[in-house]
Amino acid sequence: MSTPEVDVLVVGAGVVGAALIRELSRYELKLLLVEKEVDVSFGTSKANSGIVHSGIHDQTGTLKAQLCVRGCQLFPELAAELGFLYKQNGAVVVARSREELVKLEKLAENGRANGVKGLSLLSREELRRLEPNLSAELAGGLLAPSGGIVVPFDLVFALTENAVANGAKLLVGTEVLGIKEEKDGFLVRTNRQPIRAKVIVNAAGLYGGEVAAMIGDHSIQLYARKGEEYLFDRKLEGLVRRTVFPLPSAISKGILVIPTVDGNIMIGPTAHRVDNDDDLGTSLAGWNEIYTEARKLVPALQPADLITAFAGLRAVGTTGDFLIAPSHVSPRFINAAGIESPGLTAAPAIAEYIVELIKDSGLKLRRKREFNPIRSVVRLRDLNPREQAALMQKDPAYGQIICRCEMVSAGEIRDAIRRGATTLDGVKLRTRSGMGRCQGGFCTPKIIRLLSDELGLPPERISKNGPGSELLFGRLREDQEETAKEEKQHA
Ligand SMILES: Cc1cc2nc3c(=O)[nH]c(=O)nc-3n(C[C@H](O)[C@H](O)[C@H](O)COP(=O)(O)OP(=O)(O)OC[C@H]3O[C@@H](n4cnc5c(N)ncnc54)[C@H](O)[C@@H]3O)c2cc1C
Repeated sequence: MSTPEVDVLVVGAGVVGAALIRELSRYELKLLLVEKEVDVSFGTSKANSGIVHSGIHDQTGTLKAQLCVRGCQLFPELAAELGFLYKQNGAVVVARSREELVKLEKLAENGRANGVKGLSLLSREELRRLEPNLSAELAGGLLAPSGGIVVPFDLVFALTENAVANGAKLLVGTEVLGIKEEKDGFLVRTNRQPIRAKVIVNAAGLYGGEVAAMIGDHSIQLYARKGEEYLFDRKLEGLVRRTVFPLPSAISKGILVIPTVDGNIMIGPTAHRVDNDDDLGTSLAGWNEIYTEARKLVPALQPADLITAFAGLRAVGTTGDFLIAPSHVSPRFINAAGIESPGLTAAPAIAEYIVELIKDSGLKLRRKREFNPIRSVVRLRDLNPREQAALMQKDPAYGQIICRCEMVSAGEIRDAIRRGATTLDGVKLRTRSGMGRCQGGFCTPKIIRLLSDELGLPPERISKNGPGSELLFGRLREDQEETAKEEKQHA
């Protein structure tokens, strides 16, 4: 088996690894991003609140504060280049009482000290004028106009696709199992081929401690803090337009009401320590906690409009700050660990920060002339009727609607598979198919067939999110062929 030799190996294709590999793809370097799951963004970067935080919450002087504010500033240009789903909708932090108004002023001071621009305190009336569906009981608010919302996995797909288009290599289903330091770098053992790398960046999220320990660095101690999130139907679109925060607690930014880029309303997250890194369950206790708090902000929220729930795990370190630095064991092994919230926001700035650390490690970085920052994808629902018709005429697959709830065409699903999706979840996250009211009830069999055709695999091998989660078995091939014949006859 050949041993690829690279300048920089990035371990973990969450938002941090993805942002870093994209930033590094501006330079003349041999780059490799490895991910143990079958797709990128299948870790914490898939399941979070999707907020681009303004940077008001983080303690002045921390890396979190510095990189959150910078990350937030980078988003508008990044979204214009990469075409991921992002909106600068602004945020309001609300005070429920006169006493809380004092805390709100302190929060504004903290934000200003962090360099957040455009902050303004709002009276009760101003707050209600901006967001009429907020509770009439609220005493006032703090407006942070630079805050935004993003579809987190879309961001990761965009970053990795653009990095690959600029020459970086991506290997999914590739788990780093051991690392040996050599004279000029590292020899890395994986479940597939070995890899030689001059520099390694550990962006393994919750598993950052384990990956660091592979070179004998035991300084990274992480635990998982779970956050449950609850998503409401799109018919609530516009209930609030800005992300609504209560005042923060000691360990979290509190329970929020979040308008998503796709027009849903989401409430969450909880913040409870769990002992198991696989514990992604949601609970009645979680729902009760979230719903009770969210209704104090927006009383019109009704359980009947809830469509789904999920949970994500924050990788929490022991210092309260991001742990981004070369390891004490080797200057060529850089840890990006403890990237809890606001890691999604900070990721583009974390990437810039790590590039500087890589330069310090002695690796020569030369700018690439031909770097292309642009990525484009077809999203039928974003086009006007004339553009849609032109596209369908050019390629009829864009006229064949597969997901009726979200209006996703066969052409978009095919594109998603060609862009890297190999599973139902991969298609769902890239196109929104199966994310609507029926949650995949109608479109799943059709998407299985498209995956099967594109990947040249039997339908029984198509899985939800990797080996072990296949959906079909038994006498399926004949059944599918029968259905296909029937469909043809009725066409
Ligand atoms: C509920 C919740 C809400 C949040 N909300 C927000 C928010 O609104 N805004 C915000 O800014 N931040 C938010 N965050 C934080 C944000 O989601 C994280 O900071 C960010 O996603 C962390 O990204 P990451 O790349 O470090 O980790 P991950 O996304 O977990 O990526 C690490 C990757 O490494 C892979 N990996 C691990 N070990 C190995 C190995 N040995 N070999 C190969 N691959 C490996 C994993 O499979 C994984 O894909 C939230 C977090 C949670 C849990």
